[in-house]
Amino acid sequence: MPTLRTETEPDTRCGFVALIGAPNVGKSTLVNALVGTKVTIVSPKVQTTRALIRGIMIEGKSQVVLMDTPGIFAPRRRLDRAMVTTAWSGAHDADVVGLLVDAKRGLDEETEAILPKLAEVAGPKILILNKVDLVAKPALLTLAEGANARPQFAATFMVSARSGDGIDAVKAWLAAHVPAGPWHYPEDQITDAPLRSLAAEITREKLFNKLHQELPYRSTVETEQWKELRGGAVRIEQTIYVERESQRKIVLGKGGQQIKAIGAEARAEIAAMIEQKVHLFLFVKVREHWGDDPERFREMGLEFPKE
Ligand code: GDP
Ligand code: MG
Repeated sequence: MPTLRTETEPDTRCGFVALIGAPNVGKSTLVNALVGTKVTIVSPKVQTTRALIRGIMIEGKSQVVLMDTPGIFAPRRRLDRAMVTTAWSGAHDADVVGLLVDAKRGLDEETEAILPKLAEVAGPKILILNKVDLVAKPALLTLAEGANARPQFAATFMVSARSGDGIDAVKAWLAAHVPAGPWHYPEDQITDAPLRSLAAEITREKLFNKLHQELPYRSTVETEQWKELRGGAVRIEQTIYVERESQRKIVLGKGGQQIKAIGAEARAEIAAMIEQKVHLFLFVKVREHWGDDPERFREMGLEFPKE
């Protein structure tokens, strides 16, 4: 009942904004910058984000639900396909879509490949040139000019998600352009992800940052147990799934040093997030075909593609 809505809440706005783009352009960093708190994990590696993560931002009387999406790239494995499908479904479900481009990379092949499909998405689109801290002004202006020549975009922004430069302009634009209507979430909520999945993501971020080459992509993390203890501490058990015994050995490291380091970093960050003392127990299990196991996809919040 939209009329009733506007009568009772004359000037609130609320809507969904999907941030899409090639892998590693800084989508997750931007979501965290807009929300003002870390709600989604970041790494220097591609394809860190696997599912849709919603971060909630408030600006004036607008509540903006930001959807961080997996990067869009040419998929190879089943997990890749699920991630790319998820990114596009996020774009189609949104009121506004923001296309992120790494200003240093410019409109490269990966981003160009996104444009024709983006044209099929209804609703306003904005272009966000990120990482302006890495690019000299003249090159940036040339890029912005070229990008502005595209009729697709209602507005173009130049930002540094890392330093926060230009973020306020994006906030203001989004706040003004989401639809009028009541807020979907309580005022103090900054994400809709349950704590146990946030905690699993934090551990996965540490894995991504500590391990090299293919290994991060061959692993996934699940929170198996979350138990409030007397005295206010929490006991958390997580399983790291890998595909082979050799990978399990690498995750454990010599004398268990690697897993210890991952656990220490994850524990500290989870404890800071929930403001409770945390006992974190990490188990590493070999599950040869976890990348083809529907249950693992469900845990990640992804649809399981048939092939
Ligand atoms: P995503 O894959 O698009 O979600 O990208 P991430 O947010 O995970 O960021 C990928 C990498 O780019 C990380 O190492 C970030 O720290 C880095 N990054 C993100 N935004 C900026 C920025 O504005 N400037 C610079 N220099 N690096 C950035
Ligand atoms: Mg990401």
